[in-house]
Amino acid sequence: MTRYGMIIDITKCTGCYNCFLACRDEFAGNDYPGYAAAQPMTGMNWMRVIERERGQYPKVKVAYTPITCMQCENAACIKASQGGAVYRREDGIVIIDPVKAKGQQQIVTGCPYRVIEWNEAKQIPQKCTLCAHLLDQGEKVPRCVESCPTGALIFGDLDDPKSEVAKLMATGTTEVLHPDYGMNEKVRYISLPRKFIAGTIIYGDVDEVAVGLAITLIGDKVSRMAITNGFGDFEFEGLADNADYTVKVEAPKYKARSIKAKTAKDIYLGEIVLKK
Ligand code: SF4
Ligand code: SF4
Repeated sequence: MTRYGMIIDITKCTGCYNCFLACRDEFAGNDYPGYAAAQPMTGMNWMRVIERERGQYPKVKVAYTPITCMQCENAACIKASQGGAVYRREDGIVIIDPVKAKGQQQIVTGCPYRVIEWNEAKQIPQKCTLCAHLLDQGEKVPRCVESCPTGALIFGDLDDPKSEVAKLMATGTTEVLHPDYGMNEKVRYISLPRKFIAGTIIYGDVDEVAVGLAITLIGDKVSRMAITNGFGDFEFEGLADNADYTVKVEAPKYKARSIKAKTAKDIYLGEIVLKK
């Protein structure tokens, strides 16, 4: 049996908003009876791209995280609805019935991901349908997936072991945005942004950057290594939140340095000058 799922690969998302635009193009002003009423022409957004600046100058990155309905197996929105207004299809897609859901504003707040929006004019809650109306006509992917130029959105049948989505799920490297919600989400992520520690190593006596130097990071029960690049920069990405780490810098003929850092935020340690 077909069971749909989607994986969002954060490493491939460039924040181009094509997915958002494709979704708007499909649903703004267009009714799909039985699936979804038309989105209003302004103000509704079933595929959001959250943009977050990370780090401090000169080490700044932007993380883009597309967020949509997570198509939960244990969906809180279904529990919040009355009279079968929200239901899960056999293929796993969670649908808000545009007729039965009329007046049920509590469905909006029922979703902890806050991906349901209230259509004030029609008095109905609305959200992503994974383009179920297109899939039912034989289309292979929703419009957002079709429009993504980088392949950051991977969609398919979780029950087909040959599908890319099933293969990626099987690697065990995907994760849900909020495991604490316990809703068994069928939209999962690769490389969700966490914290980084970065720095630049300088040989103080010659005032030159240290190229190709091995830097060690110890903390959160693991030890990791990074090699400085041609600018003397190193970076440890994907670190735990609010964890204590120690960065160890050892170079032949120079005094070793040991720097402590807590990942309450992304950290750039600045220039670390080695002395003899
Ligand atoms: S993410 Fe929210 S709206 Fe989507 S299925 Fe889960 S609980 Fe329902
Ligand atoms: S279309 Fe793809 S790359 Fe562009 S914002 Fe959406 S997920 Fe990211």
